[in-house]
Amino acid sequence: MKSIGCYIHIPFCESICSYCDFCKNFYNEKQVDAYLKELEREIEDSYSKLPIDTLYIGGGTPSSLNIKQLEKLFEIINKKLDLSILKEFTIECNFENTTIEKINLFKKAGINRISFGLESINGDILKILERDANKENITKLINYCNQIGINNVNIDLMYAIPNETLKILEDDLDFILSLNINHISTYSLILEDHTKLKINNIKYIDEELDAKMYELICSKLENWDHYEISNFAKHKSYRSNHNLKYWHNEEYYGFGLGSSGYEGNIRYTKTKSLSKYLSGDYINKDSIEYLSPKDKIYYDIILNLRTKEGIDLEKFSKIYKKNLKDYYDYTDLVKNNLLIEKDNHLSIKEDLWYISNSIIIRFLEGEVTNE
Ligand code: SF4
Repeated sequence: MKSIGCYIHIPFCESICSYCDFCKNFYNEKQVDAYLKELEREIEDSYSKLPIDTLYIGGGTPSSLNIKQLEKLFEIINKKLDLSILKEFTIECNFENTTIEKINLFKKAGINRISFGLESINGDILKILERDANKENITKLINYCNQIGINNVNIDLMYAIPNETLKILEDDLDFILSLNINHISTYSLILEDHTKLKINNIKYIDEELDAKMYELICSKLENWDHYEISNFAKHKSYRSNHNLKYWHNEEYYGFGLGSSGYEGNIRYTKTKSLSKYLSGDYINKDSIEYLSPKDKIYYDIILNLRTKEGIDLEKFSKIYKKNLKDYYDYTDLVKNNLLIEKDNHLSIKEDLWYISNSIIIRFLEGEVTNE
């Protein structure tokens, strides 16, 4: 039977970071209680009952919920969703509001992967990001996760932050590598509209330094499985199965405020207005994208080319009944070593990932129009 991924959004945070443009609101106990009620209703209304194999609770900050609210959240999940074949269950947490009691509850609820937002451990950088971090607390919480058997732990690291130097990034990496974790997600800072950093007219760091930072991350993690442009697993078995669904252009439900989903031929994003959501109006009709086979192929290309294995050409021709070459002429890209065609897979070489966007643009320009 067909299975599917599932993303649930918890849009509450205790404090707001200066760079954040995610869908979030300040934590408010009553609002969270009302939100969980609505979430239950939304799932009842829109869940099409497919068994879920990867479940990801993201935010916002899911760990900002109190114990009672987390219990309620897990009760909803267990009552309303078919988890009979669930293999990966992730929750996003912030170190500042994660406690031993909450980790125990996660374990009891079946969570087997925790993704912690850290971003940096450097005091000056944390000030710019308007975040907090405490080395002792981080080490204690991660050790505890491992002690009770949640040994699949990710850390998010941000780089290319104003005033950041290669030395600061290297210290961040050294600290992260000293922890008992097996997955690292890295992000270069993006100055999104309406964020505090953008409003304060903060500028991007020099492009050359940005490239050097990416290079430093790749070389520090050279023994790790660099399986996607920004993601590293200590071993292949610790890759994020849920996120791989996104990059493999596979289907997933999206539940909760501002969540995105992909079901059948439809991609959608739920409303980002908390008041609308709390009044039961969670569908955002304007966001619905009906996909033609051509659109699906487009997503297949731009998403799969982010990964180490790239596009599975055999799988592609099975799905679309034609070869990828019949849709796009990428001969020159292969000839010029910008793409590698090997073992029925088409991928971008790891040392060119930094310029992958420009390679993907050139790939799309090779569309065969006289089909
Ligand atoms: S904790 Fe995450 S979601 Fe919340 S404000 Fe910071 S970056 Fe945004």
